[in-house]
Amino acid sequence: MGDAAGLALNMGITVRGMEFAMASGYMAAQTVKMAKKKKDFSASTLALYQTLLRDSFVLHDMETFRDSLEALEIPRMIGFYPQWVCRVLEEIFWIGEGPKKRTSSTVWKGVKEGLFNLAALKDLLMLRRI
Ligand SMILES: Cc1cc2nc3c(=O)[nH]c(=O)nc-3n(C[C@H](O)[C@H](O)[C@H](O)COP(=O)(O)OP(=O)(O)OC[C@H]3O[C@@H](n4cnc5c(N)ncnc54)[C@H](O)[C@@H]3O)c2cc1C
Repeated sequence: MGDAAGLALNMGITVRGMEFAMASGYMAAQTVKMAKKKKDFSASTLALYQTLLRDSFVLHDMETFRDSLEALEIPRMIGFYPQWVCRVLEEIFWIGEGPKKRTSSTVWKGVKEGLFNLAALKDLLMLRRI
């Protein structure tokens, strides 16, 4: 159960594992309780644990987010994109000597400069899987 069973997930936005540990621990306890009641600790009785896990959010979420690590390993995710966001925000908040452009046109300029390219499109397609 928990981390020992590999039930941890880096979703990029957040790291998850505590709820998986609690839920899988609870299900393991339920299984042991049931096996004790039946006085049967055979593999088929203990397979209840697998069924409970499969029917719960635990394995559903592990399946839904199975590609998230691959997406997070794109080097641009920790390099280009954070810098790009900072650049656009800096331009939005910067008050210089000249007249200021509308926020929407600053954002649009940033999008055109940073995201209108093949690499960004490829990353976007990958991020859809997170
Ligand atoms: C940096 C970081 C940030 C995280 N942030 C989040 C978050 O925001 N939200 C979230 O849900 N999850 C987060 N997690 C994941 C979460 O902490 C784990 O998924 C969760 O604690 C797993 O619980 P566990 O009981 O399975 O294992 P653990 O919490 O690791 O507990 C295992 C325990 O067993 C003990 N132990 C090991 N070997 C032995 C032994 N031989 N004998 C006796 N005791 C032993 C260990 O000392 C430990 O106390 C984060 C993890 C990390 C590393």
